Amino acid sequence: MSVTCGTAATHAPVNVELAPLGLLVVQPTPFCNIDCSYCYLSHRSDKSRMDVATVKAIARFLRGMPLREPQLSVVWHAGEPLTAPTEFYETAFAALQSKAAPTLFTHHFQTNGMLINDDWCELFKRWAVRIGVSIDGPKKIHDAYRVDRSNRGTYDRVMRGVAKLREHEIPFTVIGVLTRDALQAPDEFWHFFETLGATQVAFNVEEAEGTNGSSSLSGNDADQSFRAFLQRVARLRSANPGMRLREFDGMRGHLTAPPGSDVMRADNRPGAIINIDVVGNVTTFSPELLGVEDDRYGKFHWGNVHTDDWQAVVSNPGFQHAYSDILAGIEQCRDTCAYFSVCGGGNPSNKLGELRTFAGAETQYCRLHVQAFADIVIDELEHEIGIG
Ligand code: SF4
Repeated sequence: MSVTCGTAATHAPVNVELAPLGLLVVQPTPFCNIDCSYCYLSHRSDKSRMDVATVKAIARFLRGMPLREPQLSVVWHAGEPLTAPTEFYETAFAALQSKAAPTLFTHHFQTNGMLINDDWCELFKRWAVRIGVSIDGPKKIHDAYRVDRSNRGTYDRVMRGVAKLREHEIPFTVIGVLTRDALQAPDEFWHFFETLGATQVAFNVEEAEGTNGSSSLSGNDADQSFRAFLQRVARLRSANPGMRLREFDGMRGHLTAPPGSDVMRADNRPGAIINIDVVGNVTTFSPELLGVEDDRYGKFHWGNVHTDDWQAVVSNPGFQHAYSDILAGIEQCRDTCAYFSVCGGGNPSNKLGELRTFAGAETQYCRLHVQAFADIVIDELEHEIGIG
């Protein structure tokens, strides 16, 4: 689907190539029961909750959008999803799967794990919900950043939630945020995840974005210790190659793809990810843009599921301004970066967080989360074929 819009006041109309929708991010509530020191969410004390009329309006909004796969993944996130009660999800899941829905949905929760109990496990099983738990490694490392509103570490409560998942034999993945503390302890960090029982581990790097204006990994000296950390993890993982590590496995897939198959990122293509906040406001691109207000771009709300359709979203001058700069940023990446074919031009929210604009290229996030991983996996591949 291609749409040309001419409503932007100061920018030439941008031809919008709508990517097939692969991920829907829904904010059931902005509220989070904890207060991680690196959190980027600005409204995490707001206890409002999505109502059923908004859930039904989401189903209507999606009609007519091209889908990447027959079943659409919905991540309930951007606040701690388990702070809404199980009854909310029983109603919301049924409402989303109403007659207006254009597809079947697979539900996902990315949770801090602290509230998981038997009732939640029953709901997870009843609706085949896929669970991702956020945990940052051993207690000392985790508790330095992931704290509650009284500044107490949350490790013990998260591990009780993980134990519940294991008791109910519910598969789960984990995301661990790499901070400067984690880099000092690769062996401890890796062995923790190796024995946790997750089906996949993902490493995020602490990012400077949203309300987290600077990262413990900002600064040139982080690059070297980050690479040393990854090299050690790669060595440790070679003894247990069955352990799935999202960044290594994904990068290996990109590096061994046939020539010409450049990465197409979902978070810089309109429509590939749709993000909807608690009152039905719609944005696309990086989910981290939900709730952000920026001096240059304003709010990233370009429509509302109660009143607008996709055509209205892409006609919004704010969307046009953002998208034209995102495209300019991708072109800068293509022209200047040797890693473009395995990156696809970057995550708009990281560019905004570090460069204050979408129309830019390299960030610290690039150097760590893309370039360092790529170089380590290239070393691994060369070693495997005997040239490293
Ligand atoms: S690594 Fe950074 S500079 Fe390179 S293509 Fe990706 S976003 Fe652009």
